[in-house]
Amino acid sequence: MDVISHTDILNRLKKISGPDFTGDIVSLGLVSDIFISDGKVFFSITVSAERAEELEPLRQSAARAVAAIDGVKAAIVTLTAEKKTTCHNSIPQSSRVAFRTRLTGVKHIIAVASGKGGVGKSTTAINLALALKESGLAIGLLDADIYGPSLPRLASVHSDPERYNKKLHPIEKYGLKMMSMGFLVDEDTPVIWRGPMVMSAVTQMLRDVSWAPLDILVVDMPPGTGDAQLTLAQRVQLSGSVIVSTPQDLALIDARKSIEMFTKVDVPILGMIENMSYFIAPDTGKRYDIFGHGGVRHEAVKKGVTFLGEVPLDPQIRYASDKGNPVVLTDPNSQYAVLYREAAQVIIRKLALRSVSSSC
Ligand code: ADP
Repeated sequence: MDVISHTDILNRLKKISGPDFTGDIVSLGLVSDIFISDGKVFFSITVSAERAEELEPLRQSAARAVAAIDGVKAAIVTLTAEKKTTCHNSIPQSSRVAFRTRLTGVKHIIAVASGKGGVGKSTTAINLALALKESGLAIGLLDADIYGPSLPRLASVHSDPERYNKKLHPIEKYGLKMMSMGFLVDEDTPVIWRGPMVMSAVTQMLRDVSWAPLDILVVDMPPGTGDAQLTLAQRVQLSGSVIVSTPQDLALIDARKSIEMFTKVDVPILGMIENMSYFIAPDTGKRYDIFGHGGVRHEAVKKGVTFLGEVPLDPQIRYASDKGNPVVLTDPNSQYAVLYREAAQVIIRKLALRSVSSSC
């Protein structure tokens, strides 16, 4: 098997001229760290946000140059904007609107987000996606949680996506189109993603995957509200977001930050879900309110955000979903499946409202 070296890649990239045909993209310092995994090469090229569209051919030339190296199975390359500041409060107004990725043939992109990891964001994302699909809509699910992709586990998918006409073909399972970094990089490969690399990989999974036609693409966001998440919220044309939180005070502080982040970049909050709301004892089925149940509903009311419902901490959910059996599919009559379906209906109504009002 061919061993791909960083030097080979850099040598190829040195043949690509910079944005104004002065110098090459390597010497100009525009190429990020290069990450290689299982024959796939990931990197980004820094350009100014205003010139992103104009410089798309530059991105394509760099991707082609690297893909032509012996042993390279795929080159995952995107443009990232020059970072002017890390302060969330000083997002330039122009970049809020100028640089948002839209997907032809995808009517709505919605984000499922949480202020912190481990609250059940991915479990919520897949169940919501399935509930939306039950309404007869064409739904995609993008696992953008680069740090800990969970879709391979939640959907029990372990195959490599295929490539047709220069695009990655999403994996189709349970009637959903799916893509995850976990399909591209071995789960055991430790990947240290820096902010720009996250954006780069996610943009590519949005743009270079044949998603269309879709009614809704559900994006399972990386947890948290750091620069990578903010950039994503800012750069992807999101119709709205769903915030998942557990009811404890500390989780709520993070959920609040998440709401602030989306609000700051003009992404509407479609609703909040309280996950692990209370505990159902597996032996007796008895309910225990030990997590400060109700905190998310309270927060939603305070912020004027729709409350989409509460899902208990039920070991049954963990067991089934970690085996690739989302509850909406495997236990369609359960109270949980009903809840996800009701939440999906609210989302559908809200998106329809938005598309009616935005077409005026
Ligand atoms: P996140 O995406 O926020 O990191 P996950 O959806 O991966 O969280 O969930 C973390 C763990 O919690 C998984 O093992 C999942 O099966 C489990 N889990 C999620 N929601 C519930 C729930 N309501 N009851 C029991 N276990 C849950």
